Amino acid sequence: MEEDNETPSSSTLKSASKERKYVQKFKTSWLEHPDFKTWLKKSDKGETKAYCKICDCDLVCGMSELLKHKNSAKHTKKMAVISQCGRMSTFFEQKSDARY
Ligand SMILES: [Zn+2]
Repeated sequence: MEEDNETPSSSTLKSASKERKYVQKFKTSWLEHPDFKTWLKKSDKGETKAYCKICDCDLVCGMSELLKHKNSAKHTKKMAVISQCGRMSTFFEQKSDARY
């Protein structure tokens, strides 16, 4: 320890090296992405949030986060139900679909 202008603490040293908080904001281009456009919406919770119309939940923005959600069991299951119905708009009325 030669520098004394900064107080060294193990906790700050540890996180400082890795702490690069880039906050991904919602991109409108995602709305045209073939993987997302059927279910993605901009969240009204903030610029860094996305929203899944199908699962009715907020998501963290980011390509990898959205892909992760898209591939989640919960989401793919709902997507399957919707594609059976054929129409997104009728989905919410048909939650009691017996074909599981
Ligand atoms: Zn979803």
